[in-house]
Amino acid sequence: MEIAIPIPGFNMRKTLGITTLILMIMMAGEVLAGSKNAQVRVVPAVEQAMLYPEIGYELKTQYATIIYEKEEQLQQFNKRVSLGSLSYLNPKRNKNSITVVDKVKNKLDVIVERVKTILDMFPGDLKFRIMLLPSDANIQKIYRYKYQKSVDYIAFYSPEEKTIFISVNDIKLEVLAHELAHVILDHYFAVSPPVKIHEVLAQFVENHLKD
Ligand SMILES: [Zn+2]
Repeated sequence: MEIAIPIPGFNMRKTLGITTLILMIMMAGEVLAGSKNAQVRVVPAVEQAMLYPEIGYELKTQYATIIYEKEEQLQQFNKRVSLGSLSYLNPKRNKNSITVVDKVKNKLDVIVERVKTILDMFPGDLKFRIMLLPSDANIQKIYRYKYQKSVDYIAFYSPEEKTIFISVNDIKLEVLAHELAHVILDHYFAVSPPVKIHEVLAQFVENHLKD
């Protein structure tokens, strides 16, 4: 069984498969039961079906709302995005008791600060979303829907939706920093610079992350 629903923000109609419908029904149950983790809001089934049928949870950091379907995706994101020699920037790193939610929150905001410093750009109203998806195939599918173009990306930033789409299977610190540079550039300039300038600056951030 397939149902087509219009999705705001996409210039297309997306087809919902049976697994998504089952997920939606399960999600509705979770909404009624309430979230176990107070920091993670369960997105109402109708809202998530309207936006992104495959997505279930929201985690808010100082700057970002991270959206993901399963706890494992947040864990994978945390594992793959390693601060390495930048760990000194995160004062909370040594506390064993903190959960994966806390780790991701701290880490992400630390990386955002680092990217702002490298660019020397400090936009006041920095708010954006990060959507964690299982694989690069998901990223490429969304890109194709949005821009009618086939790419081999593992992540991209959509300025229209102020959203970074990330494959948790492929993400690493440098790639995340690159996409965050696009977010900061987009928020900093009243008129966005040409795509080539965007890329040069995002590449600059990627290369100077650990200076
Ligand atoms: Zn780029």
